[in-house]
Amino acid sequence: MDDCIFCKIIKGEIPSEKVYEDEEIIAFKDIKPVAPVHILVIPKKHISTLMELNDENMYIMEKIMKAIQKIAKEQNIAENGFRLIANCGPDSGQEVMHIHFHLLAGKKLGPKIIC
Ligand code: AMP
Ligand code: ZN
Repeated sequence: MDDCIFCKIIKGEIPSEKVYEDEEIIAFKDIKPVAPVHILVIPKKHISTLMELNDENMYIMEKIMKAIQKIAKEQNIAENGFRLIANCGPDSGQEVMHIHFHLLAGKKLGPKIIC
């Protein structure tokens, strides 16, 4: 997708602070962090929302979850824990139409969904 910010990050056309990369997944620091650790985990393949997942591309969710476990260990947040958020569609406030998981950690996040 030519006009997708996250596809541009994947291609290296926009800089990012990458914390993880494999063949199909990348993770980088959110530009406007809302917690001490705020990482976005995304598939390299452009899929716009969770509702676009289907039998062909659903395998990527397993890969994303495995990557999240690795990232959590590498970032030393596996033990204290983290919150995972995925916005989907207009009511959620999804701004970037490329599937992403917000990985939030590094402090007690409190009872609200967002910090
Ligand atoms: P969402 O509202 O779930 O679509 O979240 C999109 C997230 O992408 C927001 O938390 C933004 O701060 C983040 N974001 C947007 N542009 C960039 C960028 N160039 N680098 C890192 N994070 C970004
Ligand atoms: Zn994209």
